[in-house]
Amino acid sequence: MGSPKSKYSRILVKISGEGLCRPGGFGIDGEQLKRIGREIKPVHDTGVQIALVVGGGNFIRGDDLIKTTPIHGATAHYMGMLGTVINALAVQETMERMGIPTRVQSAVHVDRVCEKFIRRRAIRHLEKGRVVILAGGTGNPFVTTDSCAALRGIELDVDIVMKATKVDGVYSDDPRKNSKAKLYTRLSYNQVIDQRLKVMDVSAIDLCQQKNLPILVFNLMKPGNMLRVVQGKKIGTLISG
Ligand code: UDP
Repeated sequence: MGSPKSKYSRILVKISGEGLCRPGGFGIDGEQLKRIGREIKPVHDTGVQIALVVGGGNFIRGDDLIKTTPIHGATAHYMGMLGTVINALAVQETMERMGIPTRVQSAVHVDRVCEKFIRRRAIRHLEKGRVVILAGGTGNPFVTTDSCAALRGIELDVDIVMKATKVDGVYSDDPRKNSKAKLYTRLSYNQVIDQRLKVMDVSAIDLCQQKNLPILVFNLMKPGNMLRVVQGKKIGTLISG
C-alpha cells in the first residue's frame, strides 16, 4: 500500500466520549466522528492491529448522575456503560464507511447490535486486520473506561496504550487554566501516582505498571498525530517504567 510502517504491531487507543461531541457538548457529532475516522484510517493502513476503547462521558458519567438523581450508584454506572455502546456503534459505522473493517465487542451484553467481549475472538479479529471497538467498559460499575483500557490492553497483549486527549500530553497543571503549566515528555508510573497527575485512574496506572505496559498520552485534535505516534515520532507524554 506504500503506507509508512508502524513502530508497533498492536496498539490500544482510548478515546473519551467527549471526543465524539462538540466541545463542551452532549451526544454525538458527525464532524467529530469523521475526524476520528480520518485519524484512524492511515494508522490502520500501516498494518498495525488496533483495539479501540470508547468512553461514554458525552452521554452519562455515573458519578455525575449519582449526585443529581435518586438513581442507585450501580445503575448510574451501568447507564454510563450503555452510553459507551452507543458510541461504539457510531464509531463502527463511521469507520466502515471509510473502508476500515471493524467489530464491536461489549462487556455489557447487547446481543442485537454487537458481540460479547471474548478475548480470544478479539485477538482473532485483530489478526485479521479488523479494528476491535471495545464497548461497555469493564462491565463492572464504579470504574471508568480508563481502567478498561489498561485491563484490555494487558489481556490483548498490546505494545502500548494510547490515550487520546484534547491537549498535547500530561502537564504539571491544567494548561487551559495555567499558561505556565509544564508539558512532560516522559514520566514514570510512580511520578504519575505520587504527583496525582490527572492521566488515568490510579488503578489503571497501577495495572499498567504491574505489567510494564507503556501509556502514551497524545493530542487527538492535531490532524495526523495518531499516525505520527505509531511511526515512533516523539509526541505527547510517554509513561513507562
Ligand atoms: N463505566 C463503568 N464501568 C466501566 C466503564 C465505564 O461503570 O468499566 C461507566 C462510568 O459511570 C463512567 C461511564 O461509564 O462514568 C462513562 O465512561 P467514562 O467516564 O470512562 O467515559 P469517558 O470519560 O472516557 O468519556
